[in-house]
Amino acid sequence: MKVGVVIAAAGSGVRMGAECNKVLLSLHGKPMLQYSIELFAGLEEVSSLVIVTRDVDCDLVQGLVEQMGLNGWVQVVPGGAVRQESVLRGLRALPADTEWVIIHDGARPFVTAPVVRRGLEAVREHRAVGVAVPVKDTIKRVQDSLVVDTLPRAELWAMQTPQIFSYELILKAHEQASAQGLVATDDCALVEALGHPVHIVPGEYSNIKITTPEDLPRSDEPAVGFGYDVHRLVADRPLILGGVEIPSEQGLLGHSDADVLTHAVMDALLGALGAGDIGEHFPDTDPQYAGISSMVLLSRVMALVQARGLEVGNADVVVLAQRPKLSPWKAAIRASLAQALGVAETRVNVKASTCEGLGFVGREEGIAAQAAVLLRARRS
Ligand code: MG
Repeated sequence: MKVGVVIAAAGSGVRMGAECNKVLLSLHGKPMLQYSIELFAGLEEVSSLVIVTRDVDCDLVQGLVEQMGLNGWVQVVPGGAVRQESVLRGLRALPADTEWVIIHDGARPFVTAPVVRRGLEAVREHRAVGVAVPVKDTIKRVQDSLVVDTLPRAELWAMQTPQIFSYELILKAHEQASAQGLVATDDCALVEALGHPVHIVPGEYSNIKITTPEDLPRSDEPAVGFGYDVHRLVADRPLILGGVEIPSEQGLLGHSDADVLTHAVMDALLGALGAGDIGEHFPDTDPQYAGISSMVLLSRVMALVQARGLEVGNADVVVLAQRPKLSPWKAAIRASLAQALGVAETRVNVKASTCEGLGFVGREEGIAAQAAVLLRARRS
Protein backbone atom coordinates (compact mmCIF):
# COMPACT_ATOMS: atom_id res chain seq x y z
CA MET A 1 0.00 0.00 0.00
CA LYS A 2 1.91 3.06 -1.24
CA VAL A 3 0.42 6.15 0.36
CA GLY A 4 1.32 9.70 -0.63
CA VAL A 5 0.20 12.84 1.20
CA VAL A 6 -0.48 16.26 -0.30
CA ILE A 7 -0.71 19.08 2.24
CA ALA A 8 -2.33 22.20 0.77
CA ALA A 9 -0.60 25.16 2.40
CA ALA A 10 -0.77 27.90 -0.22
CA GLY A 11 -3.20 30.26 1.57
CA SER A 12 -2.21 33.89 1.99
CA GLY A 13 -3.35 34.63 5.52
CA VAL A 14 -5.43 37.61 4.36
CA ARG A 15 -8.45 36.55 6.42
CA MET A 16 -6.15 35.98 9.40
CA GLY A 17 -5.03 39.60 9.19
CA ALA A 18 -1.52 38.17 9.09
CA GLU A 19 1.30 39.39 6.88
CA CYS A 20 2.59 35.86 6.44
CA ASN A 21 1.00 32.64 5.26
CA LYS A 22 -1.32 31.63 8.10
CA VAL A 23 0.01 28.06 8.19
CA LEU A 24 3.34 29.54 9.29
CA LEU A 25 1.77 31.39 12.23
CA SER A 26 2.80 30.05 15.57
CA LEU A 27 0.31 27.89 17.40
CA HIS A 28 1.36 27.00 20.97
CA GLY A 29 4.96 27.70 20.04
CA LYS A 30 5.33 26.05 16.65
CA PRO A 31 4.14 26.79 13.12
CA MET A 32 0.61 25.55 12.45
CA LEU A 33 1.83 23.57 9.43
CA GLN A 34 4.29 21.60 11.56
CA TYR A 35 1.43 19.78 13.32
CA SER A 36 0.17 18.07 10.16
CA ILE A 37 3.69 17.36 8.88
CA GLU A 38 4.54 15.69 12.19
CA LEU A 39 1.38 13.62 12.14
CA PHE A 40 1.82 12.29 8.60
CA ALA A 41 5.60 11.83 8.92
CA GLY A 42 4.91 9.70 11.99
CA LEU A 43 2.47 7.34 10.25
CA GLU A 44 4.24 4.21 9.00
CA GLU A 45 1.61 3.84 6.24
CA VAL A 46 2.80 7.06 4.57
CA SER A 47 5.64 6.76 2.07
CA SER A 48 5.84 10.26 0.55
CA LEU A 49 4.74 13.76 1.44
CA VAL A 50 4.35 16.84 -0.75
CA ILE A 51 3.64 20.31 0.68
CA VAL A 52 2.20 22.80 -1.78
CA THR A 53 2.78 26.38 -0.74
CA ARG A 54 3.01 29.86 -2.23
CA ASP A 55 6.10 30.61 -4.28
CA VAL A 56 7.18 33.24 -1.75
CA ASP A 57 6.87 30.80 1.16
CA CYS A 58 8.77 27.87 -0.41
CA ASP A 59 12.06 28.80 1.31
CA LEU A 60 10.41 29.22 4.71
CA VAL A 61 8.57 25.91 4.40
CA GLN A 62 11.73 24.20 3.14
CA GLY A 63 13.52 25.62 6.19
CA LEU A 64 10.86 24.17 8.47
CA VAL A 65 11.17 20.78 6.78
CA GLU A 66 14.96 20.85 7.23
CA GLN A 67 14.61 21.89 10.85
CA MET A 68 12.33 18.88 11.36
CA GLY A 69 15.01 16.59 9.85
CA LEU A 70 12.69 15.59 7.00
CA ASN A 71 14.79 17.04 4.23
CA GLY A 72 14.85 14.78 1.18
CA TRP A 73 11.71 12.92 2.24
CA VAL A 74 9.31 15.85 2.08
CA GLN A 75 8.97 17.78 -1.19
CA VAL A 76 8.00 21.45 -1.20
CA VAL A 77 6.20 22.46 -4.38
CA PRO A 78 5.04 25.94 -5.47
CA GLY A 79 1.25 26.19 -5.63
CA GLY A 80 -1.13 27.67 -8.17
CA ALA A 81 -3.51 30.61 -8.09
CA VAL A 82 -6.29 28.68 -6.34
CA ARG A 83 -6.38 25.71 -3.97
CA GLN A 84 -7.57 23.25 -6.61
CA GLU A 85 -4.68 24.13 -8.91
CA SER A 86 -2.25 23.81 -6.01
CA VAL A 87 -3.56 20.36 -5.11
CA LEU A 88 -3.20 19.23 -8.74
CA ARG A 89 0.43 20.37 -8.72
CA GLY A 90 0.94 18.42 -5.51
CA LEU A 91 -0.65 15.30 -6.99
CA ARG A 92 1.61 15.50 -10.03
CA ALA A 93 4.68 15.77 -7.78
CA LEU A 94 3.93 12.43 -6.06
CA PRO A 95 5.90 9.33 -7.16
CA ALA A 96 4.26 7.59 -10.15
CA ASP A 97 3.83 4.32 -8.22
CA THR A 98 1.66 6.01 -5.54
CA GLU A 99 -1.52 3.97 -4.97
CA TRP A 100 -3.44 6.06 -2.44
CA VAL A 101 -3.40 9.80 -1.74
CA ILE A 102 -4.30 11.68 1.41
CA ILE A 103 -5.15 15.32 0.69
CA HIS A 104 -5.06 17.53 3.75
CA ASP A 105 -5.36 21.26 4.49
CA GLY A 106 -2.36 22.69 6.33
CA ALA A 107 -4.81 24.94 8.19
CA ARG A 108 -6.27 21.90 10.02
CA PRO A 109 -3.54 21.31 12.59
CA PHE A 110 -5.62 19.17 14.94
CA VAL A 111 -6.19 16.16 12.71
CA THR A 112 -5.45 12.91 14.53
CA ALA A 113 -3.99 9.55 13.51
CA PRO A 114 -7.21 7.60 14.25
CA VAL A 115 -9.12 9.81 11.78
CA VAL A 116 -6.48 9.29 9.08
CA ARG A 117 -6.40 5.52 9.69
CA ARG A 118 -10.21 5.33 9.51
CA GLY A 119 -9.99 6.98 6.09
CA LEU A 120 -7.15 4.73 4.92
CA GLU A 121 -9.09 1.61 5.88
CA ALA A 122 -12.18 2.74 4.02
CA VAL A 123 -10.42 3.90 0.88
CA ARG A 124 -9.33 0.41 -0.18
CA GLU A 125 -12.96 -0.54 -0.63
CA HIS A 126 -14.46 2.78 -1.71
CA ARG A 127 -11.57 4.50 -3.58
CA ALA A 128 -12.84 7.94 -2.53
CA VAL A 129 -13.32 8.84 1.12
CA GLY A 130 -14.13 12.11 2.85
CA VAL A 131 -13.81 12.76 6.55
CA ALA A 132 -16.86 14.64 7.81
CA VAL A 133 -18.92 15.43 10.90
CA PRO A 134 -22.71 15.72 11.22
CA VAL A 135 -23.85 19.34 11.06
CA LYS A 136 -25.10 20.59 14.44
CA ASP A 137 -26.73 23.81 13.26
CA THR A 138 -29.90 24.01 11.23
CA ILE A 139 -28.93 25.03 7.71
CA LYS A 140 -31.23 27.16 5.58
CA ARG A 141 -30.96 28.29 2.01
CA VAL A 142 -31.31 32.07 1.88
CA GLN A 143 -31.82 34.44 -1.04
CA ASP A 144 -32.03 38.22 -0.62
CA SER A 145 -32.37 37.83 3.17
CA LEU A 146 -35.34 35.49 2.76
CA VAL A 147 -35.33 31.84 3.70
CA VAL A 148 -36.23 29.76 0.67
CA ASP A 149 -35.61 26.32 2.12
CA THR A 150 -34.74 24.51 5.36
CA LEU A 151 -32.45 21.57 4.64
CA PRO A 152 -33.01 18.29 6.49
CA ARG A 153 -30.25 18.41 9.10
CA ALA A 154 -30.04 14.63 9.55
CA GLU A 155 -28.68 14.36 6.02
CA LEU A 156 -26.10 17.15 6.32
CA TRP A 157 -22.41 16.58 6.98
CA ALA A 158 -19.65 19.17 7.16
CA MET A 159 -16.68 18.05 5.10
CA GLN A 160 -13.21 18.20 6.58
CA THR A 161 -9.85 16.99 5.44
CA PRO A 162 -8.15 14.57 5.09
CA GLN A 163 -9.87 13.32 1.97
CA ILE A 164 -8.41 10.08 0.72
CA PHE A 165 -8.49 8.65 -2.77
CA SER A 166 -7.10 6.16 -5.21
CA TYR A 167 -4.26 8.10 -6.84
CA GLU A 168 -5.45 7.22 -10.31
CA LEU A 169 -9.02 8.32 -9.56
CA ILE A 170 -8.21 11.69 -7.95
CA LEU A 171 -5.66 12.55 -10.63
CA LYS A 172 -8.26 11.83 -13.29
CA ALA A 173 -10.87 13.88 -11.40
CA HIS A 174 -8.52 16.86 -11.07
CA GLU A 175 -7.34 16.72 -14.65
CA GLN A 176 -10.89 16.51 -15.98
CA ALA A 177 -11.99 19.41 -13.75
CA SER A 178 -9.04 21.44 -14.95
CA ALA A 179 -9.86 20.69 -18.60
CA GLN A 180 -13.54 21.58 -18.08
CA GLY A 181 -12.95 24.64 -15.91
CA LEU A 182 -14.87 23.04 -13.03
CA VAL A 183 -14.06 24.63 -9.67
CA ALA A 184 -15.11 23.00 -6.41
CA THR A 185 -14.43 23.78 -2.76
CA ASP A 186 -13.18 20.30 -1.93
CA ASP A 187 -11.55 17.38 -3.71
CA CYS A 188 -14.42 14.96 -3.12
CA ALA A 189 -16.65 17.16 -5.29
CA LEU A 190 -14.35 16.58 -8.26
CA VAL A 191 -14.70 12.83 -7.85
CA GLU A 192 -18.47 13.27 -7.51
CA ALA A 193 -18.39 15.13 -10.82
CA LEU A 194 -16.93 11.99 -12.41
CA GLY A 195 -20.01 10.10 -11.21
CA HIS A 196 -17.94 8.08 -8.74
CA PRO A 197 -19.46 7.60 -5.25
CA VAL A 198 -17.68 9.20 -2.27
CA HIS A 199 -17.78 7.36 1.05
CA ILE A 200 -17.92 9.28 4.34
CA VAL A 201 -16.08 8.32 7.52
CA PRO A 202 -16.66 10.18 10.78
CA GLY A 203 -14.17 12.89 11.62
CA GLU A 204 -13.76 14.86 14.83
CA TYR A 205 -15.31 18.24 15.69
CA SER A 206 -11.94 19.32 17.03
CA ASN A 207 -10.41 19.02 13.53
CA ILE A 208 -11.24 22.65 12.77
CA LYS A 209 -10.00 24.72 9.85
CA ILE A 210 -8.26 27.86 11.01
CA THR A 211 -9.47 30.66 8.75
CA THR A 212 -9.87 33.79 10.87
CA PRO A 213 -8.14 34.83 14.12
CA GLU A 214 -11.27 33.81 16.07
CA ASP A 215 -10.61 30.20 15.03
CA LEU A 216 -7.26 30.09 16.77
CA PRO A 217 -7.65 28.36 20.06
CA ARG A 218 -6.84 31.05 22.54
CA SER A 219 -6.19 30.65 26.12
CA ASP A 220 -8.06 32.79 28.58
CA GLU A 221 -4.95 32.62 30.71
CA PRO A 222 -2.81 35.74 30.33
CA ALA A 223 0.83 35.17 29.43
CA VAL A 224 3.89 37.19 30.41
CA GLY A 225 7.03 37.60 28.35
CA PHE A 226 10.46 38.94 29.13
CA GLY A 227 13.04 40.49 26.80
CA TYR A 228 16.65 41.58 27.16
CA ASP A 229 18.99 43.18 24.63
CA VAL A 230 22.35 44.94 24.43
CA HIS A 231 23.89 47.09 21.70
CA ARG A 232 27.34 48.63 21.50
CA LEU A 233 27.77 52.43 21.62
CA VAL A 234 29.75 53.93 18.73
CA ALA A 235 30.30 57.35 17.19
CA ASP A 236 28.38 58.50 14.10
CA ARG A 237 25.21 56.52 14.76
CA PRO A 238 21.86 57.88 15.94
CA LEU A 239 20.61 56.85 19.36
CA ILE A 240 17.06 55.54 19.03
CA LEU A 241 15.17 54.17 22.02
CA GLY A 242 11.56 53.06 21.78
CA GLY A 243 11.31 54.72 18.36
CA VAL A 244 12.44 58.09 19.72
CA GLU A 245 15.66 59.66 18.44
CA ILE A 246 17.63 61.07 21.36
CA PRO A 247 20.40 63.66 20.91
CA SER A 248 23.64 61.97 21.86
CA GLU A 249 27.32 62.03 20.93
CA GLN A 250 27.18 58.30 20.44
CA GLY A 251 24.59 55.95 19.02
CA LEU A 252 24.01 52.22 18.95
CA LEU A 253 25.58 49.83 16.45
CA GLY A 254 23.45 47.15 14.84
CA HIS A 255 22.09 45.65 11.64
CA SER A 256 18.77 47.47 12.01
CA ASP A 257 18.49 50.91 13.62
CA ALA A 258 19.76 49.16 16.79
CA ASP A 259 16.82 50.36 18.92
CA VAL A 260 17.80 48.22 21.87
CA LEU A 261 14.66 49.02 23.86
CA THR A 262 12.27 48.11 21.05
CA HIS A 263 14.22 44.87 20.55
CA ALA A 264 13.71 43.98 24.21
CA VAL A 265 9.99 44.77 23.86
CA MET A 266 9.70 42.55 20.75
CA ASP A 267 11.45 39.70 22.52
CA ALA A 268 9.09 40.08 25.46
CA LEU A 269 6.07 39.92 23.11
CA LEU A 270 7.45 36.88 21.29
CA GLY A 271 8.19 35.32 24.67
CA ALA A 272 4.59 35.75 25.79
CA LEU A 273 3.46 34.26 22.46
CA GLY A 274 5.79 31.29 22.90
CA ALA A 275 7.14 32.26 19.48
CA GLY A 276 10.91 32.27 19.93
CA ASP A 277 12.98 35.43 19.61
CA ILE A 278 13.55 38.27 17.15
CA GLY A 279 16.69 36.61 15.73
CA GLU A 280 14.47 33.81 14.40
CA HIS A 281 11.88 36.18 12.98
CA PHE A 282 14.19 38.89 11.60
CA PRO A 283 17.66 37.39 11.08
CA ASP A 284 20.45 40.01 11.11
CA THR A 285 21.96 38.20 8.12
CA ASP A 286 18.94 39.17 6.00
CA PRO A 287 19.65 42.29 3.90
CA GLN A 288 15.96 43.32 3.98
CA TYR A 289 16.42 44.26 7.66
CA ALA A 290 19.54 46.39 7.13
CA GLY A 291 18.91 49.81 8.66
CA ILE A 292 15.20 49.08 9.10
CA SER A 293 13.28 50.96 11.77
CA SER A 294 12.74 48.62 14.69
CA MET A 295 9.26 50.14 15.04
CA VAL A 296 8.38 48.54 11.69
CA LEU A 297 9.55 45.18 13.04
CA LEU A 298 7.54 45.81 16.22
CA SER A 299 4.41 46.36 14.12
CA ARG A 300 4.99 42.94 12.52
CA VAL A 301 5.27 41.31 15.93
CA MET A 302 2.07 43.10 16.96
CA ALA A 303 0.37 41.61 13.87
CA LEU A 304 1.22 38.17 15.28
CA VAL A 305 -0.24 39.19 18.64
CA GLN A 306 -3.45 40.35 16.96
CA ALA A 307 -3.66 37.28 14.75
CA ARG A 308 -3.73 35.19 17.93
CA GLY A 309 -6.69 37.15 19.29
CA LEU A 310 -4.52 38.72 21.98
CA GLU A 311 -3.73 42.24 23.15
CA VAL A 312 -1.13 43.85 25.36
CA GLY A 313 -2.24 44.26 28.96
CA ASN A 314 0.74 46.34 30.06
CA ALA A 315 4.45 46.72 29.47
CA ASP A 316 7.21 47.64 31.88
CA VAL A 317 10.63 48.49 30.46
CA VAL A 318 13.99 49.62 31.77
CA VAL A 319 16.90 51.12 29.87
CA LEU A 320 20.36 50.71 31.39
CA ALA A 321 22.59 53.56 30.20
CA GLN A 322 25.29 55.61 31.86
CA ARG A 323 24.77 58.44 29.37
CA PRO A 324 22.91 60.38 28.05
CA LYS A 325 20.50 61.25 30.82
CA LEU A 326 17.19 59.71 29.73
CA SER A 327 14.70 61.25 32.15
CA PRO A 328 13.75 64.11 29.75
CA TRP A 329 12.86 61.50 27.12
CA LYS A 330 10.90 59.00 29.15
CA ALA A 331 7.51 60.55 28.37
CA ALA A 332 8.15 60.56 24.62
CA ILE A 333 9.35 56.93 24.72
CA ARG A 334 6.29 55.96 26.73
CA ALA A 335 3.96 57.61 24.20
CA SER A 336 5.75 56.01 21.28
CA LEU A 337 5.68 52.49 22.76
CA ALA A 338 2.06 52.86 23.92
CA GLN A 339 1.00 53.73 20.40
CA ALA A 340 2.93 50.83 18.88
CA LEU A 341 1.53 48.38 21.43
CA GLY A 342 -2.03 49.65 21.00
CA VAL A 343 -2.52 50.57 24.65
CA ALA A 344 -3.07 53.72 26.72
CA GLU A 345 0.08 55.44 27.95
CA THR A 346 -0.88 54.50 31.50
CA ARG A 347 -0.31 50.83 30.53
CA VAL A 348 3.34 51.46 29.64
CA ASN A 349 6.00 52.22 32.20
CA VAL A 350 9.46 53.42 31.18
CA LYS A 351 12.37 53.34 33.61
CA ALA A 352 15.98 54.32 33.15
CA SER A 353 18.95 53.39 35.26
CA THR A 354 22.66 54.03 35.19
CA CYS A 355 24.81 51.21 36.47
CA GLU A 356 26.76 53.28 38.97
CA GLY A 357 29.72 53.31 36.60
CA LEU A 358 29.97 49.53 36.75
CA GLY A 359 30.34 47.05 33.90
CA PHE A 360 29.96 47.70 30.16
CA VAL A 361 27.09 50.10 30.76
CA GLY A 362 29.08 52.05 33.33
CA ARG A 363 32.08 52.23 31.00
CA GLU A 364 29.71 53.63 28.30
CA GLU A 365 30.54 50.77 25.95
CA GLY A 366 26.92 49.88 25.39
CA ILE A 367 23.29 50.24 26.39
CA ALA A 368 21.10 47.42 27.65
CA ALA A 369 17.32 47.19 27.88
CA GLN A 370 14.88 44.88 29.58
CA ALA A 371 11.15 44.57 29.01
CA ALA A 372 8.27 42.64 30.51
CA VAL A 373 4.85 42.48 28.84
CA LEU A 374 1.55 40.89 29.61
CA LEU A 375 -0.60 39.51 26.80
CA ARG A 376 -4.23 38.64 27.35
CA ALA A 377 -7.26 37.66 25.29
CA ARG A 378 -8.51 40.65 23.30
CA ARG A 379 -11.41 42.34 25.03
CA SER A 380 -12.51 44.73 22.32
MG1 MG B 1 19.11 43.90 19.24
